[in-house]
Amino acid sequence: MPTRREIVQGGLLTLVFGTGFALSCACHAQAHRARHKYGCVLSPDDATLFMDERTDARLYISGNEPMIPRSGDRDFDLALAHTLAAVSEKLEALPSFAYYDDYDGANAYATPKVRMNNADGTVLFGQRLLSRLMSGTESPEVAVAAVCAHEFGHILQFKRGLDRVVGVGQPTVKRVELQADFFAGYFAGARKLERPNFPAAVFAMTQHSFGDNMVNHPGHHGTSEERGAAIAKGFEAAYREKCTLAQAIQISTNYVAGL
Ligand SMILES: [Zn+2]
Repeated sequence: MPTRREIVQGGLLTLVFGTGFALSCACHAQAHRARHKYGCVLSPDDATLFMDERTDARLYISGNEPMIPRSGDRDFDLALAHTLAAVSEKLEALPSFAYYDDYDGANAYATPKVRMNNADGTVLFGQRLLSRLMSGTESPEVAVAAVCAHEFGHILQFKRGLDRVVGVGQPTVKRVELQADFFAGYFAGARKLERPNFPAAVFAMTQHSFGDNMVNHPGHHGTSEERGAAIAKGFEAAYREKCTLAQAIQISTNYVAGL
C-alpha cells in the first residue's frame, strides 16, 4: 500500500522519475530531520539524515556518467550530466550529486559532508523541486541547471573558506547566498561564451523567483531583485570581463560585502 505521502506526491514525480526511483520511507525521518542553520547549506551533522534519504550519488566529471535515477527523459538526463560536469570545471568544485526526498519542502542543499572519495562535498537536489522546475515553460532544464550551479557555488565556498569570510558576524545568510548566486551567474557567463545560444537569462529569472522579503529573518536569501542582480554581476564577470575564477572570487567577495 502506498503511504499518503506517496499518493500526494503522485503524478509529476512518477512522470519525472518513472519506475527507476524508489521513494524512500520518510516516516521515521519526518520526526527527526531537523536543521540548525538557515540557508541551503547543511552542516555535516545536519546532513546525515538528509543523506539517508538520497539516491545513489556520483561525480560528474566527463558529463557522460549516467544520471541516477534516470528521469525517463534521455535528453534531459544527458544535458544535466553535461551541465554538472561543466559547472564542476568552471567553479573548480567537484561534489557528488544525488536527488533526495524533499517531502518537507521543495529544496536543494549543499553540504561539505563527503560520502565519496575525492569529492568536494555533496549536492542534494530535491525531487519535488525538480518536478516544480521541470513543469516550468521557460527552458526548464536550464532552471534546474541554475539551482545546481548555485549549490556548486556553495561547494566552492566551502573549499576556499569563503562562506566564513563573507558570512562572519552577519545576522542573515544573505551574503553567503548571494555569493553563491554570483558564482552561478559566473558559470552562466562562461557557458554562454562557449555556447552563444545558451539561455543565460533563465538563471537570473530562476533565482529571482526564489527571492524573499523576510529581510530580518536569519534565513533571508536576498530579495528577488538582489538575487537577479547577483546572477547578472557574476554573468558579467565571466562574459564581458573574462575574469578568471580567482578574480571572480575577489569581485564577488567585495560585492556581497557592500550589500
Ligand atoms: Zn544557497
